[in-house]
Amino acid sequence: MIDQKLAEALKDRARTGDQTALRSPELKSLFDQLKTLPAEERAAFGQSVNELRQELQSLLAGARDKQEQLPPIDTTAPFDANTPFDARPRLLDSGQGSVHPLMTELAQILDIFYRMGFTAVESREIDDDFNMFGSLNFPEGHPARDDYDTFMTVQKDKQNRPFIAPAHTSTMQNRVLKRLKPNLEKGEPIAAVIPGRVFRNEDLDARHEHTFYQLEGVYVDKGVNVGHLIAALKTFLQEYYGKELEVRTNPFYFPFTEPSFEFMLSCPFCDKKGCQICSQAGWIELLGCGMIHPKVLHAAGIDTNEYTGFAWGGGIDRLVMMKYGVEDVRYFHSARLDFLRQFA
Ligand SMILES: [Zn+2]
Repeated sequence: MIDQKLAEALKDRARTGDQTALRSPELKSLFDQLKTLPAEERAAFGQSVNELRQELQSLLAGARDKQEQLPPIDTTAPFDANTPFDARPRLLDSGQGSVHPLMTELAQILDIFYRMGFTAVESREIDDDFNMFGSLNFPEGHPARDDYDTFMTVQKDKQNRPFIAPAHTSTMQNRVLKRLKPNLEKGEPIAAVIPGRVFRNEDLDARHEHTFYQLEGVYVDKGVNVGHLIAALKTFLQEYYGKELEVRTNPFYFPFTEPSFEFMLSCPFCDKKGCQICSQAGWIELLGCGMIHPKVLHAAGIDTNEYTGFAWGGGIDRLVMMKYGVEDVRYFHSARLDFLRQFA
């Protein structure tokens, strides 16, 4: 008789898909044992060894089928933060992953602008002093530079200046204006939106993150004025929030626009009655905007006697927070799965 304990141990190994069960010394020892047995026992013992081997083969085949049915492993998936402290970390299987809410919303935002005739250009996550400041009418040593405190690299560019983690997507204005300038010659406007990640050296709180997403917009053509700016932003916001909204502008200062405005939106949650989202003000300050400064157009080689344009830049995180009533901007990058799963 075959040792039942040994047979069960081999079957257990085969069930887990362990291929070595078939070539194990234990199984070999059973075949060796066969040779030493008296002739009258040999047939029965041989039959049970063969049966065991066949059973191991079918268990291995079963284990292989089962493995093939498992979802593929997503090696980029995080460990489940809800795993108890004293347990082995559970890896989330790919079936539980989902697109990040900011990316889902960004796709919707871009879709609205595509329909309004804008094209999209992606921003960069590292840039130089010229694109961050120089091309945007921030002279050397200008105090307005201090409002954009961000991170810099130790490595220097050709002018011996550090590279910069952009503090705004306006770093792309000069490139986009230059790249799309041929549109003007064809009698078409420059109309582009530029989404990207931006970085600030901030004290973090519910409204401030060191890393967030911005959406820049530029529009240049003959006869463009502030009315076009307000209409374009209002149209976008009403489409995004799916309701009629009131907007208003307050004078502001940016070196790269003149005149410059803070763009305010009637609170979509309380219809100006005052609520937690708008800090009881009824209005929400949403983004900065203005008519592109002639020096910025000049820097891109655009004739300011013929053309004018508007630009704006605002936080995408902020738009999404307002849409869903998210109270803390830090949730977006916190890998808090209970938060992210609400959007899945
Ligand atoms: Zn409100």
